[in-house]
Amino acid sequence: MDLAFSPEDEAFRQEVREFIAAEWTDDLAERQKRSKTHHLGKEATIAWQQKLAKKGWMGINWPKEYGGPGFTQVQKYIFDFELNAAGVPLGENMGTIMCAPVIMAFGTDEQKKEHLPKTRAGERWWCQGYSEPGSGSDLASLSLKAEDKGDHYLLNGSKTWTTFAQYADWMFLLARTDNSGKKQEGISFLLLDMKTPGITIDPIYTIDLPAIGHQEVNQCFFEDVKVPKENLVGKENDGWTCAKYLLQFERGNAYAPRLTRVIEHIKEMAKKERSDTGTRLIDDEDFARQIADCERELMAIDFNERRVFAALSTGGAVGANSSMLKLRGTEVGQRLELLATEAVGYYVMPFERDTDASLDGLTNQPPIGPDYAASLAPIYFNHRKTTIYAGSSEVQRNIMSKAILGL
Ligand SMILES: Cc1cc2nc3c(=O)[nH]c(=O)nc-3n(C[C@H](O)[C@H](O)[C@H](O)COP(=O)(O)OP(=O)(O)OC[C@H]3O[C@@H](n4cnc5c(N)ncnc54)[C@H](O)[C@@H]3O)c2cc1C
Repeated sequence: MDLAFSPEDEAFRQEVREFIAAEWTDDLAERQKRSKTHHLGKEATIAWQQKLAKKGWMGINWPKEYGGPGFTQVQKYIFDFELNAAGVPLGENMGTIMCAPVIMAFGTDEQKKEHLPKTRAGERWWCQGYSEPGSGSDLASLSLKAEDKGDHYLLNGSKTWTTFAQYADWMFLLARTDNSGKKQEGISFLLLDMKTPGITIDPIYTIDLPAIGHQEVNQCFFEDVKVPKENLVGKENDGWTCAKYLLQFERGNAYAPRLTRVIEHIKEMAKKERSDTGTRLIDDEDFARQIADCERELMAIDFNERRVFAALSTGGAVGANSSMLKLRGTEVGQRLELLATEAVGYYVMPFERDTDASLDGLTNQPPIGPDYAASLAPIYFNHRKTTIYAGSSEVQRNIMSKAILGL
């Protein structure tokens, strides 16, 4: 395994940096700065995705035949790293990361033609309809009913925790088309136009909503919603195959690039903050030890990710390794977010409610305390989700114990 970057890779790194310098405009940067969780909101997110798409850099995991950039694994890593280092969002989303690979692998030619170009161009926003009340970790127990009505299915039931359903043009979902066999059988993978009559989207008011200022999760209700049969992906009753295939993409992201930026940010803050004894916080022995500990953890994550991605470039599959990456990436992320709040002390406490009327997370108030303090608590609270969604940490440990350790 060669962990060094070639001159071509370094030239690519330079190209990414130049793109960011030219296209990450002051407008976008200002909007991100005013958002408490650095989420840009729908309009600006799409604008940024379209810039990336124009450059050919949306759908970074997509093969060239579907309009992807055909990045090598190393280029993907560099791309991810540079955008994160600059504090710029990736642009990738549930459509490009999760739904598209399923359509590529199991979809019909018509489905590919209809959905892939618009998804890659940032023109089609997708949400994920997997979880239901009572069916999260035990996803196969799901019960949203899709009744066969000849040329269409009729959906009745609900989905929950649906991230940004209020923004979505389409939903990819799992529904029950048969009840007679094992619970994993009788599930089908469907694509649903969110403009179809009979869909109600109710926001879920999470504990962090007043702090982050934008609505993130929803419960979606379906009452006699018609889904044309041509929107079935793969075979009827074989949706579990698509569902499992999708999950490895949902969990298989690189975490090191973002965590590297977070740790650098904490170090910058700690140079400005004071410890109890009046020294710079960065020079405080206990704080420095905690930073060093996190850096050691981060180095392990980084090397592990490079190892997995290097294996991918020679034809390997992420498989159960995606559980390991997700587990360590999210747990170390939460540890760092706690450390960040400790670094700033009581200035993380002001609870700023003054967000704009669209609930898009923008604050109009100048921050109380240093400007880097305002987003720390919102991000700390918001990111409690990371060890729950896409399979909780306990579930990832179960997968690893079976698939990696063979227990
Ligand atoms: C912010 C957020 C956004 C989300 N976005 C989406 C989305 O867009 N689309 C979507 O479909 N879903 C989404 N989810 C849902 C997410 O996938 C589920 O919350 C997750 O799978 C856990 O399911 P649950 O909430 O039903 O908890 P449960 O499955 O009821 O789990 C409760 C607790 O029991 C533990 N547990 C469960 N089973 C086991 C086991 N076998 N062994 C050991 N411990 C176990 C869990 O770890 C957890 O601590 C989101 C969740 C959150 C919090």
